[in-house]
Parts: sequence; structure tokens; C-alpha cells
Amino acid sequence: MVSKNRFQTDQQIIWCPGCGNFGVFQALQNTLEELNLRPDQVLAVFGIGCHGHMANYLKTYTVEALHGRAIPLAMGVKLANNSLTVLAIAGDGDQLGEGGNHLIHACRKNPDIKCLIHNNQLYSLTVGQASPTSDLGTKTKTTPDGVFDQPLNPLTLALASGASFVARGFAGNVPQLTRILIEAIKHKGFAVIDILQPCPSLNKANTFQWFQQRVYELGKNYNFKDKNKAFEKALEWGEKIPIGIFYQENRPTLEDHLLPVLKKSINNLFLKTDFKKLIAEFR
Ligand code: SF4
Repeated sequence: MVSKNRFQTDQQIIWCPGCGNFGVFQALQNTLEELNLRPDQVLAVFGIGCHGHMANYLKTYTVEALHGRAIPLAMGVKLANNSLTVLAIAGDGDQLGEGGNHLIHACRKNPDIKCLIHNNQLYSLTVGQASPTSDLGTKTKTTPDGVFDQPLNPLTLALASGASFVARGFAGNVPQLTRILIEAIKHKGFAVIDILQPCPSLNKANTFQWFQQRVYELGKNYNFKDKNKAFEKALEWGEKIPIGIFYQENRPTLEDHLLPVLKKSINNLFLKTDFKKLIAEFR
């Protein structure tokens, strides 16, 4: 169940009972409330997947992108209207498979966008094929003998690609996920938040209980400015799985670099072009 507030529409929610998407949706609503944002100040771009139904439930501007293309669409929106809080929300298959190239380059370009990865370690909308984050040995319809590809680690990928904010939350810990999302939105730059989002219908291994036995919060003494430490912690996966903000740095955003150039180009185009002469040339 999701407790309703002004960021939820009247649409009936069709996620399976117990789906991790409920926890993510609740944390996102809490975050927008906590930050005192208005629905018209937020635009969320969704990918394709079970998470994408949220485009109908979240009362902000929402749009569903092509598969794997949530990030470039979000970057275009942010450049067109820099005052919006822009979110790129998609699953592990979408953000790390089809959209993996966009994720890497957004990390190094640093647009002021928040990238939420609903990581259920499967392509669940299409009933459970292996995704880039499926654990080794996971049996699915596409991998009846078990996954043999090395799983992608979203955190080390984001760190190595230059993301300025890297975190991991758990759909089963809504208060902590809310705290992470608040800091991510306050952060000026590209934030990658890997969210452990159990899919009880199709992923029978990485369940809420499985995660609850393993997750622990990076403590107050953890130094999120230390990139080496962030890599070390990001590599922990198995008996213990850390959650929290792994890394944060401040540096200019894509908009800081690009918007003055775009403004100048547009000014030059409209103020210095003799349109009458230009049209006459085409007659
Ligand atoms: Fe959630 Fe899995 Fe059901 Fe999709 S298939 S709605 S991810 S529980």
C-alpha cells in the first residue's frame, strides 16, 4: 500500500501485491513533499518496465520514453527548462542494458538529473528474462541453465564513469530511501541511485527477506568524499550489502557549461540574422 498525498493520481495501481515498486513510489512522494515542491515543478521521465506504470500514478509532469532512452530525453528537458526538477526513472534492464551508453555519458557530463534505477535483477514486465544485474547462476526463461554473464555493478559503473552522486537504497527501507532521494535532489549534478527493488512474482532468490538479512547502512562516520572507499564499499555484495550515499562531489553541471553557449547562439541567430534577406535568397 502507498499512503496517498498530493503527488498521487487517482489511477488504480496495478503492480503485483508486495512489489518493491510500492516502496520506491512511497519514498519518492515523501521526498517531493519533504522538499516542498509543487507537482508542476517536477518532470519525471520513465523507461519501459513495470516501474513505468508510475507515469500514471505520479502527479507531476510525466512521460514514458522509448526503451533505454529515459536519460537523453531527461537531458533535453533539463536544457529546455533548467528550473524543473528532472528525474530519469527506469529499471535495471532499461538503464543498464538498452540505455547503458546514455548512463555512462551522463555520468561524465553531469547534467542536473536524478537517475533512479529500479533494480529487481530481471526484465519483469516481459515476465522475467535475465537482466544485466542478474546474479550468476540465476535461472530464468532465457537462462534455463543459470546466468553465466558477469553481473554489472551499477555503483562501480557510475563511480568509474564520473557520476557526482552515487547511492544505493532499498525499497524495504522507505525512510532511508527517502533521505537518499532528498539529498540526491538537493545535489547539483547527476545523481545515480541504485534501488534494490524486489520482484516477489518473478525473482524468488533476491526477496525482501533475502535483502533484509544482508543490507546495512553506511554509518555516520563513513566519508562519502573518499572515492577509493566508495569503490571498496560498492564491491561488497553477498553476505553483506551496504546502502546509503557512497560518493558525492561538487563540480559544474552540463547546464553550467552549455546554457550560456546555447543562449549566445540563439541570440546570435535571432538578433543578427537578416530574415528578410534570408527568405529572399530562397525565393
Ligand atoms: Fe512488481 Fe515483479 Fe509484479 Fe512487475 S512482475 S509488478 S516488478 S512484482
